[in-house]
Amino acid sequence: MPEKIIGHGTWYDKTAKKIVEREQKLGRSLDLIRTESGLGASGFPHIGSFADCARSYAVALALQEQGINAEYIAFADDLDGLRKVPAGMPDSLSKYLGYPVTSIPDLYGCHDSFGEHMTGLLLESLDETGINYSFKSAKKSYEQGLFVDQIRAILMNAKKVGFVKPHLDAILADIDAYRLEEWDPVLAVKGLTTVFLGLSSVGNKGEGGDASAVLDRIARLDPVEGLRLGKG
Ligand SMILES: [Zn+2]
Repeated sequence: MPEKIIGHGTWYDKTAKKIVEREQKLGRSLDLIRTESGLGASGFPHIGSFADCARSYAVALALQEQGINAEYIAFADDLDGLRKVPAGMPDSLSKYLGYPVTSIPDLYGCHDSFGEHMTGLLLESLDETGINYSFKSAKKSYEQGLFVDQIRAILMNAKKVGFVKPHLDAILADIDAYRLEEWDPVLAVKGLTTVFLGLSSVGNKGEGGDASAVLDRIARLDPVEGLRLGKG
């Protein structure tokens, strides 16, 4: 099927414009802009996993449309731990709960790990639909030390509220904007947990009890997780 542009002024055109404006404001290079989405590798891909990729790719396409060199990175979150035995898979997997999905054997025997099998299925769907991507695996990226400089910078600055707070606010804003607590409570708990741990680590006690409000939200979605974090 030949590719055809079916409209302009969509949210991804607007997002692309915002990105270009932000990069210009920050005085950063526009030589190459990368969009990225995380590929969950802890269960069978579904329409939501595919949509994450498609949306991120759409922004890369919109950037290209605006004359910017852009690429989409499909980043497999394959160091994530297995949270539960996926529906339709044998209970024998329960002994691997909490294991990174790339440390669990592939039940089907065709890949090196459970995680690589699941990632492979999603990548197949991207190939089938003509989504162009550069593939990165979290496991390989960490092993190669790709994030060492960034992690060092974050650790050195973790105590500076001003450094971390805007990122935490952005995560909260996204959770609210997408009404994630209704649509994807598991992902919402993940995001809220990041915010809670971040706020707690920067000692954000004086700012209207933000951390405890976030903890309340977690506890409503996942009481066990709320209790665990509350004790920490
Ligand atoms: Zn396999």
